[in-house]
Amino acid sequence: MGAGRLAGAPVSGEGLKFFADSMLGKLARWMRTIGCDVEYERSIEDGALIERALREERIVLTRDTLLVRRRRLKGRCFFVESPIVADQLKAVVERFGLDSAGFLTRCLRCNARLERAAKEAVKERVPPYVCQTQDEFSVCPKCGRIYWAGTHREGMLREIERMLKG
Ligand SMILES: [Zn+2]
Repeated sequence: MGAGRLAGAPVSGEGLKFFADSMLGKLARWMRTIGCDVEYERSIEDGALIERALREERIVLTRDTLLVRRRRLKGRCFFVESPIVADQLKAVVERFGLDSAGFLTRCLRCNARLERAAKEAVKERVPPYVCQTQDEFSVCPKCGRIYWAGTHREGMLREIERMLKG
């Protein structure tokens, strides 16, 4: 932590946690793709969202102008202006200094941090060709989904680069 760091103005995404409102499911997924800790629930009442965000020290990402004005969220809320997911991602990356260093270290489905898994441990659960061609696997401790390198992964990385450039 640098000496000139202002309170409430993080210079890097390191350690930041977010809660995306129900309109920002796609943004939440892309943020998870680059390794950000982002909780998201498709339907959650404003009051419950605020409670949970405060309790877990998460910054609320919202497109709801009423939610932004909630006094309890003062300084803990970021208004996402654009309806376009590429612009949304760009806005949060710029505002919070996020980077893609944690690319695919988090489950896209449930936000848990992935754990390295041995090929032996996952071979029954991945397609045979994947088992033959891949050596590195990770698994979500929460939902059990298995991740591996491959063309899909490269495609996602390219898509992120494209979104952040645009
Ligand atoms: Zn999961």
